[in-house]
Amino acid sequence: MLLTNPEPETLEMWRHFCTTKEKVMLVSCGEKCAWCGAEEKTENIYQGLFYVYPIQKYMRWPEYMEYYYWQDKKSS
Ligand SMILES: [Zn+2]
Repeated sequence: MLLTNPEPETLEMWRHFCTTKEKVMLVSCGEKCAWCGAEEKTENIYQGLFYVYPIQKYMRWPEYMEYYYWQDKKSS
């Protein structure tokens, strides 16, 4: 029996801000982040846009996380 999928699998990726790599990472769907072990389902809680008050912009969760991560670094 052949195990090849007749339909080429689309490479779905999910994004998250990785505190280990200190940047937004792309991870294949169904896989954990290789760097920090974050799972897609954990990140999926944070759908939608988040308002970043200091720069008056809406951002997605990974970018929002990234923004505040570097804000914290600057202020400490
Ligand atoms: Zn990660």
